[in-house]
Amino acid sequence: MQIVTTIEELRSIVKWWRGEGHSVGLVPTMGYLHEGHKSLIVKAVSENDRVVVSDFVNPTQFGVNEDLSSYPRDINRDAALCEEAGADVIFHPEPEEMYFSDNCTFVDMDRLTKGLCGKTRPTHFRGVCTVVSKLFNIVTPDRAYFGQKDAQQLAVIRRMVRDMNFGIDIVGCPIVREEDGLAMSSRNTYLNPKERKAALILHKSLSLGEEMIQAGEKDAVKVKNAIVKNMKTEPLARIDYVELVDGETLEPVETIEGPILAATAVYIGKTRLIDNFSYHSVF
Ligand code: AMP
Repeated sequence: MQIVTTIEELRSIVKWWRGEGHSVGLVPTMGYLHEGHKSLIVKAVSENDRVVVSDFVNPTQFGVNEDLSSYPRDINRDAALCEEAGADVIFHPEPEEMYFSDNCTFVDMDRLTKGLCGKTRPTHFRGVCTVVSKLFNIVTPDRAYFGQKDAQQLAVIRRMVRDMNFGIDIVGCPIVREEDGLAMSSRNTYLNPKERKAALILHKSLSLGEEMIQAGEKDAVKVKNAIVKNMKTEPLARIDYVELVDGETLEPVETIEGPILAATAVYIGKTRLIDNFSYHSVF
């Protein structure tokens, strides 16, 4: 496996692969990889001849008071995990390689980016759409892999690919959790032992809502209120949002009749964690 730091070198590797008739998969990440990322890489390896994992803490998707400088980084550990998972290239550029100092072009989206995480992080999805578009243009993959863990991001990328005719298959992958239910995240490293325990409230509360729906509850407000009530039993948790939305448009729903996404963001101490479940209604 190769670690590549320049766009030019990556382009020439992909060109060579294409000449050999190989299909190419891309797994975009911000590094500090864990088993959740690994599941995406393993899937990409099983479906493509060659796989690129991008490992880049993208500055444009962080707000001014967010954790860009403290975001965890460990390229050696990441490289070992990628190699083990069977990736061919890890693309690890410096910010200066990805963005000209006078960069003034961004990819932005209406509607889907305004609710959920977009309310608290108004510039986040502009950064995500911009960097993912750039990676798509650099790697020109056949398929790209994204986790359901970031469900809004997955919906936004699917919509961007449709609207901008990227012609890339977007493959969504299930959430990988710790044994006790906490969704794996690079940001879990911020949690102290007390907070780590408290963080279980996200999955516990969402599971309660999921059980209500499975038992036949169709009133989205009732489900949301039950999730919020349970979340509030944890003194270290401060809710950013709990929402039940249409799985595709991400518009809030009142009645659960089609596929829905129940998503939450919660501060545990200073750490903002997200989690969700999807329910494909069969009523
Ligand atoms: P990140 O490095 O956090 O930007 O994540 C890179 C990709 O890995 C995104 O598509 C995430 O949705 C995905 N991912 C992160 N955590 C998990 C997880 N616990 N399970 C599945 N996918 C994940």
